[in-house]
Amino acid sequence: MRTQVGIVGAGPSGLLLSHLLHLRGIESVVVEIRSRRYCETRIRAGVLEQGTVDLLSASGVGARMAREGLVHHGIVLRFGGRDHRIDLSGLTGGRTITVYGQHEVVKDLIAARLNAGGDLFFEVQDVEVLDVDTPAPRIRFGRAGTAEELRCDFIAGCDGFHGVCRPAVPPGVLTAYEHAFPLAWLGILAQVPPASEELIYSSHDRGFALLSMRSPELSRLYLQCAPDEDMNGWPDKRIWDELRRRFERDDAWTLRDGPVLQKGITAMRSFVVAPMQYERLFLVGDAAHIVPPTGAKGLNLAAADVMVLTRALEAFYATGRTDRLARYSEVCLRRVWKVQRFSWWMTSMLHRSNDGEFFDRLHRAELDYITGSRAASTALAENYVGLPFDDD
Ligand SMILES: Cc1cc2nc3c(=O)[nH]c(=O)nc-3n(C[C@H](O)[C@H](O)[C@H](O)COP(=O)(O)OP(=O)(O)OC[C@H]3O[C@@H](n4cnc5c(N)ncnc54)[C@H](O)[C@@H]3O)c2cc1C
Repeated sequence: MRTQVGIVGAGPSGLLLSHLLHLRGIESVVVEIRSRRYCETRIRAGVLEQGTVDLLSASGVGARMAREGLVHHGIVLRFGGRDHRIDLSGLTGGRTITVYGQHEVVKDLIAARLNAGGDLFFEVQDVEVLDVDTPAPRIRFGRAGTAEELRCDFIAGCDGFHGVCRPAVPPGVLTAYEHAFPLAWLGILAQVPPASEELIYSSHDRGFALLSMRSPELSRLYLQCAPDEDMNGWPDKRIWDELRRRFERDDAWTLRDGPVLQKGITAMRSFVVAPMQYERLFLVGDAAHIVPPTGAKGLNLAAADVMVLTRALEAFYATGRTDRLARYSEVCLRRVWKVQRFSWWMTSMLHRSNDGEFFDRLHRAELDYITGSRAASTALAENYVGLPFDDD
């Protein structure tokens, strides 16, 4: 088999890249180890920045998102028993965020690719990327018991943090920058209407909690916990009791509970690899960087990488220019580090730390400052709705 761009991974990065390339007349093939159903039901991110929404809409995959997505104009910071609203739209000239599950974005992109006759190979095995330092890189994989080989001009490693593309880069080329936070999130998806129209970030003496949602009927809630927390110690009743305590407010605000459909523990870490390119292999999204979920940035950052790579490949196939491809890593990393900074800052400010009471008091002072100063609230708001795309 032969294509122009071989894409490893059918997560948001790989599917969006394949879709945008198709719109520009560039061929691609996507290989994915999981089944289509698994990819379409994997519950992960849910907050889309304005720029991500605009990108999906402009590329023709925004119709269902426009109908079913929940547009939010603000978020709530809850601390000291009171709510403090950050008016995202008012502070950013009308920009918003949209709550629309990552798995819904994935469903829309898979449908778009298949309707356009795109090649998406699910449930492949033993994926290997080869010859990336030559003009003819290859992806080798098994499909229905047969060994296949895909020859391409370029390979996009969109295979997430645990994929095979990053490890395929020879030792000594990449530098990894990492920070593991001494905390994690215990998250649930619950069959109950969200108790608030807007997301609530609650900083409480017992630890952080987040109220989010996936639809008018489904709530997504998180509790700060230890990285090695044993899920068995958290029956549903204990989770709801703890959530109620961490969301307590001075008045009679209450949190209704409901059936828990899914639960899991997510480690909080920051990771960046640089450069994000080796010869004809480009690392995209979680294959190159991970952010703690507090700033709701992982999926949005992946979309920004895809945009930069799409434009670079478009320039290459239209005119033979390679300068944009050569700058891919540098351009992406500028945004990656700004987003790492924001995600680290939100995480540090909102969680109960292990560093002692001094730091907890500093973080409370910071929350007080953010909610009391228009300049400081604006800094939070403009990062939360998403920094402008800058691909030069
Ligand atoms: C549990 C969890 C919760 C999260 N919650 C949030 C959140 O609330 N907000 C937020 O903004 N972000 C969140 N994130 C991050 C967000 O989901 C990611 O940033 C986003 O999925 C990145 O997309 P991606 O396509 O780069 O990677 P992925 O979504 O990881 O996709 C990679 C794809 O590659 C496939 N793959 C892996 N190895 C191979 C291989 N060898 N060959 C072929 N295919 C392969 C995988 O099966 C997968 O389909 C969360 C992540 C996790 C893990």
